[in-house]
Amino acid sequence: MRNVLQNLRERGLLHENVSAVYDNTDGCCSQYRCATGVFLLTVLSSMFKVCINRQVHAPGHGKDEVDGLNATTKRFLCEKMATTQKDDGRDNTNRMADWAMEGGAEKCLSAEAVRLLENPERKDGVESAGKYQKRFDNRAVTERHYHVLKASDVQFDNLKMETIKFKNVRKGKHNGLGARYNIRTDPDLGVGFAAIRRIPCACDACFDQLKISWEPGTVPNEQPRYKQNKECELWPVFDGHNDWEIVEIRRGVDTPDEEMEDVYATVLESIADVMASEIEQQKIGAVSTVDDKYYLLKWTTLPYRIEGDKLLTEYDPPIHVKDGELVCEGEYLEGLLRAKGWYYPTTIKTVVRLQQVLAADILMSPIKSPDNLLPRGGWPQREPPFDLTGKKAERLAQLQRAERSTKISVADHSEILEEMRRRQLLDYDEAEETEDDGEDDEEVSTSGDDNSQSESDSSDDDLP
Ligand SMILES: [Zn+2]
Repeated sequence: MRNVLQNLRERGLLHENVSAVYDNTDGCCSQYRCATGVFLLTVLSSMFKVCINRQVHAPGHGKDEVDGLNATTKRFLCEKMATTQKDDGRDNTNRMADWAMEGGAEKCLSAEAVRLLENPERKDGVESAGKYQKRFDNRAVTERHYHVLKASDVQFDNLKMETIKFKNVRKGKHNGLGARYNIRTDPDLGVGFAAIRRIPCACDACFDQLKISWEPGTVPNEQPRYKQNKECELWPVFDGHNDWEIVEIRRGVDTPDEEMEDVYATVLESIADVMASEIEQQKIGAVSTVDDKYYLLKWTTLPYRIEGDKLLTEYDPPIHVKDGELVCEGEYLEGLLRAKGWYYPTTIKTVVRLQQVLAADILMSPIKSPDNLLPRGGWPQREPPFDLTGKKAERLAQLQRAERSTKISVADHSEILEEMRRRQLLDYDEAEETEDDGEDDEEVSTSGDDNSQSESDSSDDDLP
């Protein structure tokens, strides 16, 4: 699945925070519908920033086109095994290499099978139509990809998640995961949370509902995207029994800590890659601090990877980064006194680990009449030019900072808080490791103290 998403992304078919992947699977519980399987889907959703909508076939379903194609593939390979390559001077590339039939430690039969299946001249593949041109043109499957899964590439095989518990809507059996045929993971829900309902429905009302924007600050269960939908065509049939339910998938007692840490580290690395692709010099980014706040900074370089574990002592306090880790340099934005959400630029430099970047491109609005003015309380003159006569040096400096201040939008602020909530789901001992990262050196100052440098307020839920 990861390979498929990677391939789609490389081909430009997968768009972060936009695309939804529809995935069809037969009812094999152990692989696709167990808690661990669902959990891994939530991981993929967060890594690739796409929704994955899995529809599970009913047990004992009829064979579909994919089953037919798989049967063809099996027959093709069986035939190939009977016709290995010969050293008779003829072109043998459409035959199976003889070494593949011998076995041995360094040989991979699967790789040879893939080579043959992907041969463009393969006769019974989907490439050829012959007299069945019409059926060929109407085929549902237009592309087939084969890949070899090496045992060494299998990740997280020690992961065992706890059975998912559902609300008891109805008494009796068949209310567990085994009775649910539609699983949706969503980067907005975050790692470890999935939306699940009984039967997939593709009516207009259901489709439109899934397009509703996420409401920052609203708990997942109350999100309009997943609320009870009486407009659904199937409503009269299910009468509430097909509502989306947001479930949390918890780790089982047998899952070692290291395995969970591995999962979280993998997601964080992937998030760092996504952030890196969005960073541009002079843009504004938001970075999380260890005390659940965030600060803003202006990017002054492009992201780069650190070589060797390093303690960057030129910053105060020093910043610890690991070998190969993505980092980026920037200059702090400081919170303006008595003006929530307003920031002014400084020349204080820092380096940030991209795993801690919450947003890479925040739009800041300068002071502008009539709708983006400094708050009344601390700033009687709500926009420049300020009256500078008779002002003390300290106040003059404040006014100069105010002139250069810009404001973060309510939407961006809420989105950053929402991203912080999702990152907390990935919080194992990251906090310990980042304690000396120096990213929290902008402590919140007591408001009202005129000598204070900063009034960072990023953790408040609302901006005025
Ligand atoms: Zn529907």
